[in-house]
Amino acid sequence: MKLLHLLPITATLLTAGAWASGPHWGYHGKHGPKHWEGECQMGRAQSPINIVTSKTVSTELPPLVFQYQESPLQLVNNGHTIQQNVAPGSRIRIGDDVYELLQFHFHTPSEEQINGKPADMVVHLVHKNEQGQLAVVAVLFKVGAENKALKSFWGKLPAKEGTLDDGSSINAFDLLPENHGYFAFSGSLTTPPCTEGVRWQVMKEPVTVSRAQLNAFKKIFPMNARPVQALNDREVKASK
Ligand SMILES: [Zn+2]
Repeated sequence: MKLLHLLPITATLLTAGAWASGPHWGYHGKHGPKHWEGECQMGRAQSPINIVTSKTVSTELPPLVFQYQESPLQLVNNGHTIQQNVAPGSRIRIGDDVYELLQFHFHTPSEEQINGKPADMVVHLVHKNEQGQLAVVAVLFKVGAENKALKSFWGKLPAKEGTLDDGSSINAFDLLPENHGYFAFSGSLTTPPCTEGVRWQVMKEPVTVSRAQLNAFKKIFPMNARPVQALNDREVKASK
């Protein structure tokens, strides 16, 4: 019953998200991260962060239960990244909490750093629960073997602002690493308005992307990563 209630809300959010356009911002110069406003400057729990593994707290974290399903391909170049809008029905369970997968998108290099080093790319899987709280799962990519999941749609990335919708489908589950161990912390959106209260899960195990695949993305977005932000008094937990 709860599920039936959730679906129309999510559908509305997806539509709004696809067409949302805020004030101009970017990653360089006078529109760059140093000039992003509001919570981006004032916040004390911002993302991304550098995860120093020796300072993480090893603990029993709830397993991430991915209940993802096939979704029609709907790739949006929104001027900041390439985003796949996901149809209702894909969910993640974190302990007792259930979040609906809304969309996923890419950054290069990865916004997250592990011990001071970014990975070559990252995908952010953005979820929302019935209370409107966000949970993001980040999967890091390192240059290596060709990524099969990316291969299915990487040739279709829209180079200019707009949407590609060709009747094919994709399952976000294919983007995940085999091992579902993760780092957990509280953070924010990494783009304006940098809203806090976002539940972050960064997967410990990276996946691979070929140099050619990485370059195909960089040709459209050479650099779309916010610098790491101060941890302040936050704790980063690591699943055992
Ligand atoms: Zn992101």
